[in-house]
Amino acid sequence: MSAANTGLKCSGCGVGVQTEEKAALGYVPKAALERKPLVCQRCFRMKHYNEALSVTPNQNEFLRLLGGVGDTDSLVVHIVDIFDFEGSLIGGLQRFVGSNPVVLVVNKIDLLPPGVNPNRIRNWVQRRAKEEGLRTVEVLLVSAKRGTGFERLAETLEAHRRGRDVYIVGATNVGKSTLVNRLIADYSDLDAEVTVSSYPGTTLDLIHIPLDDEASVIDTPGIVYETRLTERVPKRYLEGIVPSRPVKPASYQLDAEQTLFFGALARFDFVEGAHQSFTCYVSPALTIHRTKLAKADALYAEHAGELLQPPAKEDLSALPPLTRHRFRVKPGTDVDLYIAGLGWIRANGTSGATVDVHAPKGVKVIMRDALI
Ligand code: GDP
Repeated sequence: MSAANTGLKCSGCGVGVQTEEKAALGYVPKAALERKPLVCQRCFRMKHYNEALSVTPNQNEFLRLLGGVGDTDSLVVHIVDIFDFEGSLIGGLQRFVGSNPVVLVVNKIDLLPPGVNPNRIRNWVQRRAKEEGLRTVEVLLVSAKRGTGFERLAETLEAHRRGRDVYIVGATNVGKSTLVNRLIADYSDLDAEVTVSSYPGTTLDLIHIPLDDEASVIDTPGIVYETRLTERVPKRYLEGIVPSRPVKPASYQLDAEQTLFFGALARFDFVEGAHQSFTCYVSPALTIHRTKLAKADALYAEHAGELLQPPAKEDLSALPPLTRHRFRVKPGTDVDLYIAGLGWIRANGTSGATVDVHAPKGVKVIMRDALI
């Protein structure tokens, strides 16, 4: 990689700008150096052509940056995605931030079905964050896309910041750039724009966005969690997996020994239990295919990549093989079988059930208290 030779930084991703090596990070044609805001060619293309240029931020670098936060006196804003809570929560964040307060900002609430009680969601998030070892001074529900919850967010940041810098941390694709852009619009005079794309790993270095006074909002690169399905499929499938509209719960009345396929990406087997309903919360763009458990293996072997899509046949080999996770839903408990990056299946455990969830190897699959 060629070193930055201009001393300038891209206002899209924060990388040092260079004018020499076209294929390397931070390239800006000499003639374009005067442009304001100055963006590197990668950000420019991503913005204008939504083109994925695969540069993955170095995770050691990310942890080094995050580790530095503990040495500062600052407010930490951790952004998570409500549709992918466990996949986007930074495990061990508490260790990195030291004694700095953490505001947990839960983004993409526009994806929840209409009519969901926000207090219930907030309480659920608070409880889950605590279970995961994260102490928060506040939990806020927002939609960076729609601008929902931003007034409250701005007030909360002011109240807890007390003149200090604000560090924004989050996994890739949680909507960090979208949110920071709104914050810039609300907070700062700076004429900069952070690059937003649906491809993970867009922000590459710390971006300092001056606030009105001495302090800055500091955007950190997104951490890439390969435990999310969204990091395991070729990028062109993301639009079919990550919902862009509110999720419509899809209920299935199942008998034991029935199976649901989610494209060729995941599979849910109702192994044992009385007739009952299971509700799927996945992207409306994803086709759910129902079959008998006894036929499921053969169906996958013969039709994955065709009847069962995404991904298409030619991309199946890029997907790690499905592995099985067994869960026992106790009678009287409401739980989600959650597949990181894909969504979840809610079991109304009135009478109990044994279920198997098959997901690509390495993708996080857990049973948790029902979100909705
Ligand atoms: P980053 O990787 O965390 O910086 O995420 P981006 O800001 O680039 O956003 C990633 C994807 O999530 C893009 O497709 C955004 O349009 C989408 N996104 C961001 N915020 C929201 C939101 O509030 N709601 C929904 N539905 N999508 C969002």
